[in-house]
Amino acid sequence: MNEYDSNRISDLFKANGYLESSDSQDISCYILNTCHIREKATEKVYSDIGRLKKNYRNKSKPFVFITGCVAQAENEEMIRREPYIDAVIGPQSYQNIPNILSSLNNKAKKFNLTDFEVIDKFDKLNSLKNSDTNVSAFVTIQEGCDKFCNFCVVPYTRGSEYSRSPEEILKEVDHLVLNGAKEITLLGQNVNAYSYKKKTNLSDLILKVGKNKKLKRIRYTTSHPKDMTDDLINCYKHEKKLMPIIHLPVQSGSNVVLKNMNRKHSREEYLDIISKLKKINPEISFSSDFIVGYPGESEKDFNDTISLIKKVNFINSFSFIYSPRPGTPASRMKMVDIKIQKKRLIILQNLLEKIQIKKNNDKIKKVEEVLVENRLKNQTQYFGRTKDLTPVILNNIGDDEIGNIIKVRIDKCDKKSLFGRKYSSEREVAA
Ligand code: SAH
Ligand code: SF4
Repeated sequence: MNEYDSNRISDLFKANGYLESSDSQDISCYILNTCHIREKATEKVYSDIGRLKKNYRNKSKPFVFITGCVAQAENEEMIRREPYIDAVIGPQSYQNIPNILSSLNNKAKKFNLTDFEVIDKFDKLNSLKNSDTNVSAFVTIQEGCDKFCNFCVVPYTRGSEYSRSPEEILKEVDHLVLNGAKEITLLGQNVNAYSYKKKTNLSDLILKVGKNKKLKRIRYTTSHPKDMTDDLINCYKHEKKLMPIIHLPVQSGSNVVLKNMNRKHSREEYLDIISKLKKINPEISFSSDFIVGYPGESEKDFNDTISLIKKVNFINSFSFIYSPRPGTPASRMKMVDIKIQKKRLIILQNLLEKIQIKKNNDKIKKVEEVLVENRLKNQTQYFGRTKDLTPVILNNIGDDEIGNIIKVRIDKCDKKSLFGRKYSSEREVAA
């Protein structure tokens, strides 16, 4: 979502006569769009500003804006700690950036915009065309969270759940498709909690988006198990453009830990969703997020997570050591020893990697449908993705295939990617 937000912030600037620059030595305004989900992400903010200060030591100071969830969580404190910052702007206030810039151009002043103005934000952004021209594009449909898992900052930084209107979403999708998008990923912190005026939910929206004739693939992320309703599960029967992979974070395979996390679902309920989906389409794959070493996690709890991973055979997953976030209930609980956390993370990541390599190897000599996204920088190779989002590197095609779904014969793989060539049945026969 930060990638989507950064693009929209860039659109806001462009609409106000500014140009984006990748030259970090000669800019008039520097925007750092930040993530607060784990401590590491937050630390990066201050080290980035340190680097910027060095670059501009003998030059006129650029305006420095901090946007995103660190700005929301730390607000005034950031300006006190680092006076080089001119404005802190929360994720629901970035529509105000052009006004702040023009005020700053007139007189020196600091700005703190961290109210939750989500309706105002989307009202202003809706009138601004999304300039993304990627083959695979994002559209935010939902923001915020009302679930309050005990470890998570999102409800405090992104605010409560908000869903955009289907009309505005469809308009943005149509525009992106006109710009060349062939795949749309619908985004939200709790994307499957999407509900517009209790009339349109995510499954209705997917069917509406699917009506765009030129659009070839639909994805959505990130889902919460609690909102994986039957109508959404059934959507995999009705909408062929909906890709057969679901990112469904489980965090832990232990019921004790899930309860301590306030996840609002059990291991059994989670597995039940998986089997319902597999019944509809056995080809559906699953990816997930895992938190390792959550306060109170015992060896048995950890082994429950390992057994869940073996049961579901997740691909493309993310795993993190628990990071205590200020103000969250879990941050007041006793931490698991860091050595144990690290040891468990290695075991878990090795297992995820082993499954991924096996799944990648299983694709060798098979033919996969790949959406070609772009040419790799300074190379003759091309990049695309299979239906289940696995990256594919391609050799024997040209720019004319960008945006097409082509059949690819997979020759080899490494840990993360597949390598293949466009499949033509005649050539295969001749070979
Ligand atoms: N809404 C989604 C997740 C959004 S946050 C869900 O409910 O699953 C993205 C991921 O960051 C989470 O799935 C979790 O694995 C990780 N995360 C969030 N807070 C964390 C913390 N305090 N420490 C470590 N990982 C965390
Ligand atoms: Fe955070 Fe997701 Fe839990 Fe909401 S549901 S609090 S976003 S982990």
